[in-house]
Amino acid sequence: MKLAQLFNQEKTVFSFEVFPPKRNNPIQTVYDTLEELKDLKPDFISVTYGASGSLADNSTCEIASAIKHKYGIESAAHLTCVNSTREEVTEVLRRLEENGVENILALRGDLVPDMPPKEEFRHADELIRFIKEKNQNFGISGACYPEGHPNSKTQVEDILNLKKKVDAGAEHLISQLFFDNSMFYDFLDKARIAGINVPIEAGIMPVTNKKQIERMVSLCGASLPAKFTKMMSKYENRPDALRDAGIAYAVNQIVDLVSCGVDGVHLYTMNNPYIAKRICENVQSLF
Ligand code: FAD
Repeated sequence: MKLAQLFNQEKTVFSFEVFPPKRNNPIQTVYDTLEELKDLKPDFISVTYGASGSLADNSTCEIASAIKHKYGIESAAHLTCVNSTREEVTEVLRRLEENGVENILALRGDLVPDMPPKEEFRHADELIRFIKEKNQNFGISGACYPEGHPNSKTQVEDILNLKKKVDAGAEHLISQLFFDNSMFYDFLDKARIAGINVPIEAGIMPVTNKKQIERMVSLCGASLPAKFTKMMSKYENRPDALRDAGIAYAVNQIVDLVSCGVDGVHLYTMNNPYIAKRICENVQSLF
């Protein structure tokens, strides 16, 4: 099923993201995670793709296929393009089709300093158009940035570029993480004014430890509300308390988002079923 169809069913969509195990960790570790996540009954699970775009690593396709066929949950495979040639992307599309993966989150990928881009794809809209030309059957999603992408000079410029992705064929968007819901609502208003009418899911990342969040924030530039930084400072030396406070913070964000009628919530699980379970215990009945 194409992900966009999930949004026609008068229900707020609740989905998860997982990543393939890091190098040297066996692939089985992600299947152990999925064994636990499946009981939480998300509407779909997406699987990230390595920034290098290496064809040698087929794990995203393999995991997305298992989510769909072994665990019976709809899946989406992330796919980046800036470090890939058209030929390489064509091969990934072939593998996805062969493995029955129906949905792709089409991304540019980050520009890696020691890896010059291959320059066959410059932006995600070019990848989206390419996928559409190759195979009309894939459901295509794109990424969006409530506080603007760090490469954009202004949020308006970023939203106009987001519209290009939708015009190219993205039928659904998933947002970058954010910690201040008012930023997301402001972005939603602007996106709708710009004529972006596809479902937009809110990306929520629970804080599990201080280092993780500092790294994420330095990468994506999400702003931190005072109540969030106070929580981090107060509990930074008490990992269990920080984890509990982080779970409560994510639950509060989700309750507010669902109450305000968002299309969906995408939980960055960080492959941590314990945290996902604790969050779901508090919000499952809202979905
Ligand atoms: P684009 O949409 O191409 O945008 C990048 C920048 O270019 C923006 O500033 C935009 O405004 C501008 N732009 C876009 N189109 C045009 C155009 N036509 N002309 C001029 N400017 C343009 N990375 C991974 O490596 N693997 C993953 O699995 C992964 N999953 C992600 C999932 C989500 C939900 C999100 C939000 C991000 C994910 N990322 C992932 C990170 C992502 O690859 C980076 O944020 C990357 O820098 C931008 O990707 P994009 O697809 O949004 O790029």
